[in-house]
Amino acid sequence: MALTGIQIYKLLPQTNCKECGYPTCLAFAMKLSAKQVELSACPYVTPEAKTQLAESAAPPIRLIMLKSNGYEAKAGNEVVLFRHEKTFYNKPGLFIRVYDNQPADAIKAKVSAVDAYAVNYVGMDLTVDGFVVASSSGDPNAFATAVGAVRAASKRPIILMSRDASVIAAGLKALQGETPLIYGADGKNWESFADLAKQNKAALGVIAASLAEMAEMTEKIKAKGVEDLVIDPGGRDLASGLALGTTIRRLAVKKNFRALGFPVIAFPGDAGDPAIESVRAAQAITKYAGFIVLDNFSPETIYPLLVLRQNIYTDPQKPIQVQPGIYEINAPKPTDPVLVTTNFSITYFSVANEVEGSGLPAWLMVTDAEGMSVLTAWAAGKFDAERIAKAVKGFNIADKVTRKRIVLPGHVAVLSGELEAELPDWEIRVGPREAVDLPAFMKQAL
Ligand code: SF4
Repeated sequence: MALTGIQIYKLLPQTNCKECGYPTCLAFAMKLSAKQVELSACPYVTPEAKTQLAESAAPPIRLIMLKSNGYEAKAGNEVVLFRHEKTFYNKPGLFIRVYDNQPADAIKAKVSAVDAYAVNYVGMDLTVDGFVVASSSGDPNAFATAVGAVRAASKRPIILMSRDASVIAAGLKALQGETPLIYGADGKNWESFADLAKQNKAALGVIAASLAEMAEMTEKIKAKGVEDLVIDPGGRDLASGLALGTTIRRLAVKKNFRALGFPVIAFPGDAGDPAIESVRAAQAITKYAGFIVLDNFSPETIYPLLVLRQNIYTDPQKPIQVQPGIYEINAPKPTDPVLVTTNFSITYFSVANEVEGSGLPAWLMVTDAEGMSVLTAWAAGKFDAERIAKAVKGFNIADKVTRKRIVLPGHVAVLSGELEAELPDWEIRVGPREAVDLPAFMKQAL
């Protein structure tokens, strides 16, 4: 049962020493009850109080970590229903499924292609997280061979999928020292699956036909000493997937209902049709899967899912930023212009990509605007003539160019007069408002 802020306060030392970063123990207690801080931030909690607080301080959705050979896929630890309330922490893992009735060479070929796929998006490499090996043969040897084929082609984490414990046990032998997810325990096999999970330190997928049944199952499995659970509540179509995902998240986060406080595994791949699979996967990313199993893989379908996932799982309070500095585009010479923008990554990549694509050389000066876009930064006083002039001097751009020409984004044309005053020996030009118009402007006006 979750404790209130006042109940937590009564268990704290009440010395207001501030070492936790908060001015009073009460302020820390309130943050703890909102699950916005870790209990470990207070070094003075007594062991007795720690025991009492541990349950309350634990995140409402358990963190599950699949590990293998230096890779890990994490899900859970979420504390809010909506991203704008705080942030979402752990991106749902995207796993590509292969079947044990496929030839080993075909499995290796598919897995190698998926494993090698990476797309650079605003300076980050986006990739899938791992693979699912599903038993369709029911044969432990065929299953072990398929697991071996996946492991030969990729080191990423694996989910083993069969309702037969002897099949799963055969797959686990090929994954010694790893932390896979075994899927799954149902009303009939749960005891043997719980034993397997415990012996192999694997996470356990739990399958139930209703939320009431799921809550009962997770409690029984926890009583056997297996805590790392992932739940499959069904809901393969859009409507039921949304309803179940939302109900589970709401019960876990708002009611602290521990029996459903686990990441959900979703199976958009069961749709068969790649287009329907993509739509269901997009819904699973937003509402509220922890692991997502896909059958189809192509750059066209995986790219939008990776980008959607990245955008949903960025901290809304911390814009994605690039390092302020001077970026050389298309090998600029000292006579080429200096373009100015802010360090909001999407702004930077919009400008850089347009100029790079045009083949025109330029020096791109990225100023520190605390990760805001041009207009937002200007409105917030983070992108003004003084800051731009300071960046020009700080980055010593005058040492790189012989023709001192600086191009302001058109949205902040209003700064040109002040910038002339700040940089009297520079020619101040006003460029277009949109990055897409930069190439034409550079050809015609510079
Ligand atoms: S560190 Fe602990 S004792 Fe000190 S103010 Fe924070 S909660 Fe109170």
